[in-house]
Amino acid sequence: MAIIQAIRGTKDILPQEIPYWQQVETIASQILARAMYQEIRCPIFEQTSLFERGIGEATDVVGKEMYTFCDRKDRSITLRPEGTAGVVRAYIEHSLYSLGGVQRLWYKGAMFRYERPQEGRQRQFHQIGVELIGTDAPRSDVEVIALAVDILQALGLKSLRLDLNSVGNKEDRSNYREALVNYFTPYKLDLDPDSQDRLTRNPLRILDSKDAKTKEIAKNAPSIINYLGVNSRKHFEQVQQLLTDLKIEHKINPCLVRGLDYYTHTAFEIQSDDLGSQSTVCGGGRYDGLVRELGGTETPAFGCAFGMERLILLLQQQGKAQKTKPDFYFVSKGEKAEAQALILAQKLRNLGFTVELDLSGSAFGKQFKRADRSEAYACLILGEEEALINNINVKWMLSKKQETFSQSKLLEISDQLRQQINESKQN
Ligand code: ATP
Ligand code: MG
Repeated sequence: MAIIQAIRGTKDILPQEIPYWQQVETIASQILARAMYQEIRCPIFEQTSLFERGIGEATDVVGKEMYTFCDRKDRSITLRPEGTAGVVRAYIEHSLYSLGGVQRLWYKGAMFRYERPQEGRQRQFHQIGVELIGTDAPRSDVEVIALAVDILQALGLKSLRLDLNSVGNKEDRSNYREALVNYFTPYKLDLDPDSQDRLTRNPLRILDSKDAKTKEIAKNAPSIINYLGVNSRKHFEQVQQLLTDLKIEHKINPCLVRGLDYYTHTAFEIQSDDLGSQSTVCGGGRYDGLVRELGGTETPAFGCAFGMERLILLLQQQGKAQKTKPDFYFVSKGEKAEAQALILAQKLRNLGFTVELDLSGSAFGKQFKRADRSEAYACLILGEEEALINNINVKWMLSKKQETFSQSKLLEISDQLRQQINESKQN
């Protein structure tokens, strides 16, 4: 029979890759917890209108990348293409603002976009995202950017660049939009088809085009920085100053416009030189318009999201994550011995050891080979002879030293065993 394969653009994350994922998740959650960010878990699907309103119909994400379908009662449902709209919906729905002060939130999970799959770009992919809702202080922009930089540094990632821009407020942008349309219109036929379309729908996004010819034309386009009003300019300058105070290197990139409509003021991206064309590992910015747009009261906010797959690719290139090795590999043979091994393995696990039990029932020689391959610190050996008198042999893999204990003694000396294992771990 034909085999069924995973859907194009989705990937199984296999056991050998999991340590990388756990490393990213652990480091991110620790760093965010230290700054008092709390995790929030929202549904994977939402009403389609949430994204239409929250992201904007003129964006690529809403225009052509969403997984939208009708449920059994003909309601339009969309698999979330990003996390912010859902978090903000939850913020409004549960009146999180009534708790007072700002809300510091983070999330992790799968996102869905119908895109052309390639290295670092999938149809189901994963993000870790951070949202700081309820303040427009430039310090809050910098708090989130600094946390993002911290997370990447704690992961040991190098050759990263921080690009920064301001997209101003609505008014600044409407003036700028006009200037852009005036600039690009004479080149219309030289632009890529998507950008031609954007000229009327969302001209800012032309700056974000990946097409070589369009990029070349965009190089001389007017810069948004010259269209910022007094307040926007002040906000942007303060953000830059605070980043400099924190010694966070950054470069102004006037072509940096986030794809989503609700962004205001600061926009940023962190790129890696080691990722080829899918080089952005983290992107975000200020979205003062979103809470209002989704029916809440005017509430400023700032957020960003990391692309997990791209972080994992970088970590794999650096060979950072460690394989998990068991403390004990348990070898046993014979009915009585195998039954005892099952019980003893469980007791050792309850004492906090990791124990891999060989279930094969094959000859000792074969089991020993697997013990070697497991890279366990010690091998526990239980044959019929030991089973009869409730003994157990411990073979230390590094020194090849073998000791015999009664099974109860082994459990009693667990502290000593733990110490011995920790010493081998340090070697
Ligand atoms: P790109 O320009 O790479 O398409 P984007 O601007 O669409 O990115 P955002 O919506 O800001 O991306 O999402 C934040 C991060 O999520 C991106 O910087 C990237 O690391 C990751 N990401 C976005 N889309 C995908 C995808 N299809 N597959 C894997 N990662 C993705
Ligand atoms: Mg995209």
